[in-house]
Amino acid sequence: MNNYFVILAAGKSKRFSSKIAKQHIVYKNKEIIDHSIEKALNSKIFKQIIIVTNDLNRLKKRKYPKLIKIIKGGKERSDSSFKALKYLKKYKPKNVFIHDAARPNFSIDLLKKIEKNLRNNKAVVPVITSKDSIKYKFKNQVFNLHRGNSLLTQTPQAFRFKELFNLAIKDKSKVNDEATIFLNRNHKVKFIKGENSNNKITYLEDLNENKTFYGLGFDIHRLIKNKKLFLGGVRIPFHSGLKGHSDGDVILHAITDAILGALRRKDIGTYFPNTEKYKNIRSPKMLKPVIKDLYKSNFSINNLDINLICEQPKVSEYRTRIVNSISKLTNLKKDLINLKGKTVEKLGLIGKEKAIACEVIISITKYD
Ligand code: ZN
Repeated sequence: MNNYFVILAAGKSKRFSSKIAKQHIVYKNKEIIDHSIEKALNSKIFKQIIIVTNDLNRLKKRKYPKLIKIIKGGKERSDSSFKALKYLKKYKPKNVFIHDAARPNFSIDLLKKIEKNLRNNKAVVPVITSKDSIKYKFKNQVFNLHRGNSLLTQTPQAFRFKELFNLAIKDKSKVNDEATIFLNRNHKVKFIKGENSNNKITYLEDLNENKTFYGLGFDIHRLIKNKKLFLGGVRIPFHSGLKGHSDGDVILHAITDAILGALRRKDIGTYFPNTEKYKNIRSPKMLKPVIKDLYKSNFSINNLDINLICEQPKVSEYRTRIVNSISKLTNLKKDLINLKGKTVEKLGLIGKEKAIACEVIISITKYD
């Protein structure tokens, strides 16, 4: 195992509108660069991992394992890469892998596949084919490139150190990857299948990885005489109704809170406090503006699951009407709404028919 892993992280991220350099932005709960560092470490195939950066202070403060070295980068990507090669020369590496820090999504399997291919090749480069049609512009003329013949090169790319070093000394052009150095001199490159998920983070919007959110809602109201019972916006004949500042509809309150939870916008009390203005308000009037806000913010609801917790009334008798009502209020298809009835073995206030509770979980997804 005489492999060395170089992570190029000296870029200025010109196309990235953010104060922090791209490689230090948090993505999937870690800084972008740390994904590459951890994968290289966990693969256990590297003697050293070299981080090339222009922000030495930031990285030197960290407690990295000994095999991680931090060196200063150059102005261009190709300068940084060459600096790493010069630094590595004294260790006499057999193989060197070069990787852009902006690609955090490669797999450890890919590293191993590359290493395996290096046994019989001097340059191994992962490629994917384009999903889009490609045109090539040259001197104001546009050519069609056959999609099947167009290769998109990714990193990590791996090379026999000696070959790459000798070619890099001679090649002073500003290349975007090391495969170009090999190809410029007609040296053979072994292309292997890359990973579609190994995309390069170039724009800030590339980071919006999480589009699905969940929200949890819970509500309970006391049952009192001489009040109408509303559940899920449906008037239900019963000996009591739910006490509250509003009509006490536990289902709609729990749904409203679940949506606000998924949207990360606090709770129902924030928008509908117990003030004179909302006294005796019907609960659909609280749900509707929240639903409107949800759809206006480009979210769609995936599904809604509801537990209605009470001894009486029997949910099975009203399920269809309640689901229909919720479907109308939310614009959600009926088959995406599930209502379960749950009794509590006659325990406590709910068991004695003195209260009704409800819990809801919702899943929503943001679209562009
Ligand atoms: Zn309530």
